[in-house]
Amino acid sequence: MKIYERKMVKVSELVGNKCWWRGCDRTYVGDMPRGWRYLFTYWSRQVQPDFFKILPQDRGLDCALCPEHVHALDGQLKDSGKQLDKVEGNA
Ligand SMILES: [Zn+2]
Repeated sequence: MKIYERKMVKVSELVGNKCWWRGCDRTYVGDMPRGWRYLFTYWSRQVQPDFFKILPQDRGLDCALCPEHVHALDGQLKDSGKQLDKVEGNA
């Protein structure tokens, strides 16, 4: 008779992935819903299109934002002609 089972799970599987905006308590579990965005920053002398070539010590933020705070961040950035909360093919 098995009394217990030890299993490793990601914290996000238990409590959900959270929005990293200060004061926001929104979360999701499982696949990222439309409207949320990953926010990843890194340093490199040149744009690095291959994520796996970015050295761990050169990585900065690696988090997610809910739709409201994607929009809020977008409002703080200079106009690049693209919006964080809009991607091609996203209706
Ligand atoms: Zn949020």
